[in-house]
Order: sequence, then structure tokens, then C-alpha cells
Amino acid sequence: MPGGVSSPVRAFRAVGGTPVVIAAGAGARVTDIDGREYWDYVQAWGPLIVGHAHPEVVRAVTNAARQGLGFGAPTPAEVELARLIVEALPSVARVRFVTSGTEAVMSALRLARAVTGRPLIVKFDGCYHGHADALLARAGSGLLTLGLPASPGVPAEVAALTVTLPFNDAESVRALFEARGEAAAVAIVEPVAGNMGVVPPAPGFLEELRERTSATASLLIFDEVITGFRLGWSGAQGRYGITPDLTCLGKIIGGGLPAAAYGGRADLMAQVAPEGPVYQAGTLSGHPLAMRAGAETLRLLRRPGAYERLEALGAALEAGLRDAAARRGLPLTINRVGSMLTPFFSPGPITDSPSAQRADTRAYARFFHEMLARGVLIPPSQFEAWFLSLAHDEVAVEETVRAADAALAQV
Ligand SMILES: *Cc1c(COP(=O)(O)O)cnc(C)c1O
Repeated sequence: MPGGVSSPVRAFRAVGGTPVVIAAGAGARVTDIDGREYWDYVQAWGPLIVGHAHPEVVRAVTNAARQGLGFGAPTPAEVELARLIVEALPSVARVRFVTSGTEAVMSALRLARAVTGRPLIVKFDGCYHGHADALLARAGSGLLTLGLPASPGVPAEVAALTVTLPFNDAESVRALFEARGEAAAVAIVEPVAGNMGVVPPAPGFLEELRERTSATASLLIFDEVITGFRLGWSGAQGRYGITPDLTCLGKIIGGGLPAAAYGGRADLMAQVAPEGPVYQAGTLSGHPLAMRAGAETLRLLRRPGAYERLEALGAALEAGLRDAAARRGLPLTINRVGSMLTPFFSPGPITDSPSAQRADTRAYARFFHEMLARGVLIPPSQFEAWFLSLAHDEVAVEETVRAADAALAQV
């Protein structure tokens, strides 16, 4: 296994050392194979918003498993999850389930290119949308130049069809769409960036994007693979009041099992096979266990007070970390939206990829290991989001802040 892992960040390359090998998780805690326990802020990189092995989710999945592990046919569970998604997201009239966020994005892009008949994709520096070729592109030397491959194996011809703009820069959105908007099939964005560390949208940025894409009849995709059902029942689009044409979901909608989805306007989704000509399929799509886990997770989130509680926990953790850094005289910039946050080792502000990159990653690495030694597992990279769950509580936050206070003294 390259790096000893099944996905790169898990290998601890950004912080040094060897990965913690996890044996089990319950609620807000995980246990490694040596029996050490940690408060967990990775939470499977976002899906576990109700915590590890929530009894109701486990019961639902276990019951479903007894009924069979998959049929390659429609099941009631996928209908139920589809209903919940359509109910939650007014912009999503119809939805197609897939197996990973990467696949959701890839499929949504194909659909956008098909319906617009245009080749060009606009994305934003520091946003991650999975590892499809079209999105492993980085900015060329100028705003209006061709994109370059961000990984060997991505043909330059493919990368050239992707334009990368600076995140949070409404002016460059305006300039690009004025110059090349008629060629742009789609702009895709994480409405709250989570993959350069948490970076909220600047006022007016998402609005500009919505306006410009509409004006040129390009589509707008919100990649809500992290933010969907995390930042509120209606995700980031509900929180910021912007209606995208298409939305990509993943992580939380699988409740910890592999599920993702893309959905949006009814007329667009009607173009997807078999109703329309845009081909997309999947043997394990809408897998009954994942659909059950997702539906049960969403039902728990729909209970009154769930998002208020996540917000309060996030605020408490943010305040605690801020105080601890102030006590230690460290320049820590904490970006938080709801239950996702990143403390950047930088005086900030952190508003885009270049400012995030200026953070002191060595300080983060030392902090990571000091936290680990104190029983707190945070993401093994400065450029990832910490996630709180409904299983975290005041005790978890207090102990985490106490650990951070001591850890920061060693940084
Ligand atoms: C995780 C993530 C993806 C990719 O999802 P996978 O299931 O890992 O393929 C896409 N977009 C965003 C915003 C993500 O955070």
C-alpha cells in the first residue's frame, strides 16, 4: 500500500511520524490498536456528524445487513434518503446517488458540459473536489491562461480545459466571466472551503459567482461534500442564501459508509441516463447499507436543536483555543463556520490559498504531536478541517482546550 494507507493524508507526511492505527470508535472517541484513547476531531474526515458508531445508525445498518448486502435494484432506503435530501435542499429537485464525492463531482461536471455544450470548467485555488482529472488542474501564470496539470498522469490537454481562479476574489470572477464566460460550462466551488483548512466565503463572493454564471448561462455547482448537512439542514447554500444549479453531496449523507450524490434543477437532472443522454452508472450506487446509514444520520440531524448544539460546541472550542493561544502569546488564527474549524498558525487573516500557505506548518506538526500525546486526535495536516459531532460535549471541549493549552506551550 503506497504510504501504508488507502488515501494520502492519512500517512502523517505533513506532521511526521507514523499513522495511528484505529481499532474502534464510539461517540467522540477513538481507540488505537495499542489501546490508547483519543478525543477525535477527524471524525472520518467529516461523515460522522453524529459521532462514531451511533447506536441508532448501527442498529439501522445491522438490520439492513440481515436483509441482504446489496441487490443492484431500487430499495426503499434510497427513496427515503432521496426524500430527505430533496426536502432539505430547495435547489435539489432530483438526485442521483453515487459512491464517492469524486464520482459525484465528476458526474455533475459531465452533466454541466453536456447541457451547456461548452468545455471550460472554472474552479478555485485551494478548493478540493476529489481526484478526477479535470479537477487536478492548477492555475497557469495568468488569470486567463490555460490550466496546468496538478498531477502526473493528467494530460495537459485536459488541464487546459480548467481555469483556476483565486478563492474569495470576486474581481477575478468578474474578469474571467466577462472575457470567457460564454465558453464556461460551469463554475464549481466549495461554498465554505474545507480543504485548505476552513476558509469562509468573503461577503459578496458567492453572490458574484451566482450572478456571473447566470449572466453567461453557465452553471454553478456547489460542492457541498463537506458542508452539506454540516452547516445546517440546508447546508452552506441555506446558510448563505445562494441557489446553485447543481449540488454535490457526500460524506454525511453516507453516515460513515460510502455514499455520495449529485442533484439539482429538475430540467438538468432529466438529462441524466436513462431519462436523458448523459451517461452515468454505478454497480454499488445507492447501496442499501449506506442509504440506511445516511437516512438514519439525517433523521438524527433533523431533530430540534441539533445544529444549535453543533454551533455552540464549535463556538466553545473556538473560544477555548483562542484564549489558550492568547495566554501563550501565539499568533493563532481560528477560522470557524459552525462545527468545522481550523486553527492556523499564522497572524492571519486567512482568506484564500496563498494566505493559508503562509501558516507555520512546522508549528502545526509539533502541536499535532503534543495533542496526540495528550489524547486528542486532530487532523494530521494544517490544511484540513477539524470536525465536531453531536457526540462531543462540554467535557470533550474542556479536555481538548486543556490539552491545547499545554500543547501550545511546547510549540
Ligand atoms: C472529500 C471531498 C470530495 C471527494 O470526496 P471523496 O468521497 O473523497 O471522493 C470532494 N469535494 C469535497 C469538498 C470534499 O471535501
